[in-house]
Amino acid sequence: QHSARTTLCSMVNNASNITIFTGAGISTESGIPDFRSPTGLWSKMVPIQFDEFVSSETARLEDWRRRFIMNREFSAAKPNEGHKALLRLNRSGKLAGTITQNIDGLHQKSGLPADQVIEIHGNSTYGACLSCSAKSSLLEAERVIAETGKAPRCSLCGGLIKAATISFGQPMPEPELLRAAQLAKSCDLFIVLGSSLVVYPAADLPQIAKQNGAELVIINREPTPLNQMADLYIRDEIGSVMQSIL
Ligand code: NAD
Repeated sequence: QHSARTTLCSMVNNASNITIFTGAGISTESGIPDFRSPTGLWSKMVPIQFDEFVSSETARLEDWRRRFIMNREFSAAKPNEGHKALLRLNRSGKLAGTITQNIDGLHQKSGLPADQVIEIHGNSTYGACLSCSAKSSLLEAERVIAETGKAPRCSLCGGLIKAATISFGQPMPEPELLRAAQLAKSCDLFIVLGSSLVVYPAADLPQIAKQNGAELVIINREPTPLNQMADLYIRDEIGSVMQSIL
């Protein structure tokens, strides 16, 4: 493990254009369970599909109920050593951008500039109108539901408001996907932190980076389907590895 960290150090030193790609694994050290964890919210419930949310008020109210629980978890969570390491990497001028599958907003909370965090699965800490995209607060949504018993509507256009994540069955956000693909194509080092790399099209990104000449590093507690393609795989805790190399 020591020599793997030394190798990672020289890869980071030699790189000038690094893209980071994070998954739920970077947030477990902040107390947010990952997708696979048996205690996670995701594992206990059948996810609400996007078309169910659009067509059924009952589904909308259930989706909101879950979002409020999840958001309390996210609000209480603090960025950990892994998130903070990215901030230091950013200050060094080598970080081109951070692509995340996470919806917890912890990268921004750690101080990474919001315009450098590309959230390909959205963000669960605020709401967005499905018609006009206007942003709104979850606290306001919670107040509306408590007072009226109805799912909130956009104050500007009357459209449905949903937590600003990408639900199952909902189209991925094109601008974010394009930006993520550009970062993957143009970087010289692509580092995956805490992703099982089984969710697509997100898991295409490390492959795009590799095909375009970047070195690929995967840091994950357990092996991923892309390990064979990686120049370096470190099977370890993200916080400890990132803290030690930076
Ligand atoms: P995943 O749960 O499929 O995989 C996480 C990986 O991280 C696992 O392979 C696990 O072994 C590893 N891991 C966990 N903690 C680690 C640590 N401290 N150090 C090293 N490795 C660690 O997550 P995914 O690939 O991001 O896909 C899950 C989907 O669910 C995503 O689309 C994401 O949007 C969503 N999700 C988000 C959050 C969040 O926002 N924090 C949490 C759970 C799920």
